[in-house]
Amino acid sequence: MFEKICKVQALYNELEIQIKAFQKQINLPCLSNCNKCCLKPNIEASVLEFLPLAYHIYINNQIDEFLDKLNSSITMCVLLNSIRIIDSPTNSGCKNYAHRGLICRLFSSSAIRVKDNSYAVYTCKDIKIQDPEKFSLAIRNLNENINAPIAEEWVSKLLEIDDTMGGDYNPINKSIEKAIMKVAYCFDNQPQNFKYHAV
Ligand code: SF4
Ligand code: SF4
Repeated sequence: MFEKICKVQALYNELEIQIKAFQKQINLPCLSNCNKCCLKPNIEASVLEFLPLAYHIYINNQIDEFLDKLNSSITMCVLLNSIRIIDSPTNSGCKNYAHRGLICRLFSSSAIRVKDNSYAVYTCKDIKIQDPEKFSLAIRNLNENINAPIAEEWVSKLLEIDDTMGGDYNPINKSIEKAIMKVAYCFDNQPQNFKYHAV
């Protein structure tokens, strides 16, 4: 389990480098103070993408706190800052951005292949509507010099780490809960001399 957690985290670190370069290339930042995509109920995500979060929760003794929240049948992501939901523009959306899932990393920061085999930015309508000219330029730029993280490829890379947990898709809170339960079960049964460290 620990090896898998490290592999997922290493994948995220590698992706982060590509995302930064891609964001610089396309120059389509999110709308200021927006977290609309996180407000969508029951976002689909896999269990595997939340192993680093689950491990972080485990080593910080937050399991009970999280399981209580997850039992309250909320449909929006458990990591969404509740103060932000009721519209406080000064609070950021994600309470644990460093340990967000793969879907959260790819959305608005990667490309997808579309019908005619060209590439589109995997993002929301709001960014497109905000400045259609800039958006078209970004798409042209993307297709002339494809140097982007391709969402499907990163999903496949994640699956290579563990196709069972990687293929176990659920509403986001269920996947977080399953990841926590798996990590807790595994580490509760580690030998006493196991050394925990942050990944
Ligand atoms: S991707 Fe779109 S909806 Fe999501 S935070 Fe960015 S601007 Fe907002
Ligand atoms: S993990 Fe963070 S970024 Fe992903 S949906 Fe939840 S609040 Fe949004």
